[in-house]
Amino acid sequence: MSNTNIKGFDTLQIHAGTQPDPTTGARQVPIYQTTAYVFKDADHAADLFALKEVGYIYSRLTNPTVSALADRICALEGGAGAVCCSSGHAAQIMALFPLMGPGKNIVASTRLYGGTVTQFNLTIKRFGWSCTFVDFDDTKAVAAAIDENTRAVFCESLANPGGYITDLAKISKITDKAGIPLIVDNTSATPYLCNPFEHGATLVVHSTTKYLTGNGTVTGGCVIDSGKFDWSQNDKFPSLSQPEPAYHGLNFHEALGAMAFTFHSIAIGLRDLGMTMNPQGAHYTLMGIETLSLRMDKHVANAMKIATWLENHKAVKEVTYAGLKSSPYKSRARKYMKKGAGALFTVKLKSGFEGCKKFVNALEIFSHVANLGDTRSLVIHSASTTHSQLTNKQKKAAGADPDVVRLSIGIEDADDLMADLDQALKASRKK
Ligand SMILES: *Cc1c(COP(=O)(O)O)cnc(C)c1O
Repeated sequence: MSNTNIKGFDTLQIHAGTQPDPTTGARQVPIYQTTAYVFKDADHAADLFALKEVGYIYSRLTNPTVSALADRICALEGGAGAVCCSSGHAAQIMALFPLMGPGKNIVASTRLYGGTVTQFNLTIKRFGWSCTFVDFDDTKAVAAAIDENTRAVFCESLANPGGYITDLAKISKITDKAGIPLIVDNTSATPYLCNPFEHGATLVVHSTTKYLTGNGTVTGGCVIDSGKFDWSQNDKFPSLSQPEPAYHGLNFHEALGAMAFTFHSIAIGLRDLGMTMNPQGAHYTLMGIETLSLRMDKHVANAMKIATWLENHKAVKEVTYAGLKSSPYKSRARKYMKKGAGALFTVKLKSGFEGCKKFVNALEIFSHVANLGDTRSLVIHSASTTHSQLTNKQKKAAGADPDVVRLSIGIEDADDLMADLDQALKASRKK
């Protein structure tokens, strides 16, 4: 079946990127558990290596099961091309790799997944890259932070640990003017709730570990390219717009147009960095993604009900859910996340840091884990775990104060979840 006439999200999440297996008729995407692929003849092999023909060579680069997943996520985001890799953090490096070089920098939001702050603040320095962190509500500061060595601007659509929505249209105006790409981590929102490309993003990255897989089984990542950015508009992206020595002098933009970034990511990024997704992992994510919209509707309904109830609970000081009337980001939620503001938010407890510990210990249905976007409800005390490597100032900027817990609301019965939260809130106030 051709996928070209399908537009509906519910149809795409099941059919995009796949067709019945041409050899066996298998209806579900087979797990192609193979490392290599037999060439038809010597010329075929040479054409594949020269990118004159597209096909499978070796599974560090591409694999049919993994490609089916990449094509499906690409369709859901409305991109031109996509590449899957081994984790969300791998996706971030893969997204930056074609753009960066020693001495180059990125400008990133202060409101990010804790691991991303550490990756950008410390680890990328080993490549000679650096990052300037800015409050993205201060658009003047974002523009001012961009200098002649800036090669990308990075933010999350719905920011972890929760409740913040980036004004993507405003930020993309700034990046367009500067002639650099806007990279948006769309993990917490998912393509069902938010479409960064519609608001000017150049690249979208995902931790497929979270909602896309949805059941907490495998780690994975994906980079999707809108195909709309002109890599040759300035001389900032020589690896894409000039002869690339690492691929026998190929000019990717000239040769591949809208697919330049994606082919570069496979031919050089995956080839030389080796952050490959394995076909078994892709299979689990393909299974999960088939029900993404159904799960997200339930995640959102539960989150809305529970956040509203928590906001009025006597043990609670504050709830930062962008879907609430009290949220400063409610109008952005209406603009960028029409189907709901996700299912991730933070709760500030009146009982403070010690109360947070008692609360987390007392919960029974909620699992205390360093994960989010699972079918089951999860809780974590960000300040002492996911955001523990951050300074106090960074924690505050990220919304991970010591008296705050992060909830990832699952798709169980909301009443059961509220009963569990209620008994744990009681426990949080015990001396
Ligand atoms: C989990 C997460 C990541 C990192 O993804 P991994 O798959 O754990 O490497 C990046 N960004 C966000 C928003 C995340 O939630």
